[in-house]
Amino acid sequence: MRIVRACREMGIGAVAVYSDVDRASEHVLMADEAHLIGPAASTESYLRIDKLIEVARRSGAEALHPGYGFLAENPGLARACREAGIAFIGPSPETMERMGSKTAARRTAQEAGARVVPGAENPLDSAEEAEKEAQRCGYPVLLKAVAGGGGKGMRLVASGQQMASAWRDARSEAENAFGDASLYVEKYLERPRHVEIQVLADQHGNVVHLGERECSLQRRHQKLVEESPSPLVTAELREAMGARAVGIARAAGYTNAGTVEFLLVASPKSEFGWEFYFLEVNTRLQVEHAVTEMVTGIDLVKEQIRIAAGERLSLRQEQIEWRGWAIECRIYAEDPENNFFPCPGRITRLERPAGPGVRVDGYVYEGWEVPLAYDPLLAKLICWGSTREEAVARLRRALDEYVVAGIQTNVAFFRRLLQEGAFLRGELDTELVNRMLAQGAARPPAPPAAVEAAAVAAALSEMTAPTNGLRLPDRQARFGQAGPPEPPSRWKQAGRQAALRGPGRRGR
Ligand code: ADP
Repeated sequence: MRIVRACREMGIGAVAVYSDVDRASEHVLMADEAHLIGPAASTESYLRIDKLIEVARRSGAEALHPGYGFLAENPGLARACREAGIAFIGPSPETMERMGSKTAARRTAQEAGARVVPGAENPLDSAEEAEKEAQRCGYPVLLKAVAGGGGKGMRLVASGQQMASAWRDARSEAENAFGDASLYVEKYLERPRHVEIQVLADQHGNVVHLGERECSLQRRHQKLVEESPSPLVTAELREAMGARAVGIARAAGYTNAGTVEFLLVASPKSEFGWEFYFLEVNTRLQVEHAVTEMVTGIDLVKEQIRIAAGERLSLRQEQIEWRGWAIECRIYAEDPENNFFPCPGRITRLERPAGPGVRVDGYVYEGWEVPLAYDPLLAKLICWGSTREEAVARLRRALDEYVVAGIQTNVAFFRRLLQEGAFLRGELDTELVNRMLAQGAARPPAPPAAVEAAAVAAALSEMTAPTNGLRLPDRQARFGQAGPPEPPSRWKQAGRQAALRGPGRRGR
């Protein structure tokens, strides 16, 4: 839908593909043309390069956008497009191949002068070799899949005794997920911050960066909340990281939109107070691209399409400016109280937030059955504010407006996350969510007795006197009144402060 919207604004027709269970999906209804490519199992539909190329040919498509899931980082699809004379909206298959291997990408980054997390140069052959490498860089280490993605094939190894079993587990997970069991070892950084740089590169040698996104709030190495700018990044650090990311993109012969990911650890020795280590390159549009769009005003999908059409970048680095703050929450059909287990099913009621500074990129509607077959990401809620405080306040307001009934979602979990002191202070790290969960953050707070009593009273009065407006129990469900006690009214506080300052200064 994100891509169809960009096409529509550019006057380009859009052709979608879908599997059996996605017949009534909103992207199908929205596209100019849609083609069935197979059953629910993605190996028989969305992962079939031959079927995608056949639809592209049949419909006369000139270009193909791979989105950000399934085959988006698969060089095979880029190559098949090239052979079919269809422009692939992404980098060349050669660049995708090189960046798709974490060890090859690390070498490229080093050639471009970047620091990489200490670890193995090449894929390792055995658990014994991995142990040697781990001793060299010091435990704890991470065993990582060379072909990795989505946190799969990754194991934390605290000591030599754990290596053999971690090696077996990670290998089989990597083999299942990527058809490639190769592993390597990286030093495990304690509580790092994940900060990534968005780059754009055209086919004429121009490369720019669009600043950073902080993605430190994660669960199981998967991003949950992303924001731009990052609370820790100064203009100087942005310039240094941006220049490094542009250098890596050049060294990789990169074209189109891409993301260079870094892990940051506090370091008094560094001029920025932080040392940044290259992590990997994502050779596609990121899920979290919208926060960059909101602070730069640049439509990344349109830029991708123009680059693939051979146009030059329309902006020089010095023309790129950042305004305000944007934060995204990934809304999933999952149950935080049940270890975030996916909860597909029929959506019986849906009310999306709206209003100033609110963007919802989602595909579900009332009555839609969220399929079991795919990642249960329902929507991304992105809020913009002129400051971080305003963005957070908007996000809270928007989460309170969000109603999804019939299935479990993580909306209430985000409401609690947004009250966390460390989050509000911008003190983020990749373990913060785990620490919150250990303290019981997945459990809903018990409703105060007064709220329960009010609900009972409202239910009773409803039985005798029906009202036309919003009923009290509804209001409680929607506006989270069953949450922690409210702070004192800001309005009243402001009034009191104005009164204290005296009549002459009121209204300032
Ligand atoms: P994937 O490609 O599977 O997403 P990444 O290499 O991008 O894996 O890492 C995903 C996340 O895993 C990071 O954002 C970070 O939270 C964690 N991680 C990866 N490497 C390290 C490391 N060396 N030390 C600590 N955490 C790491």
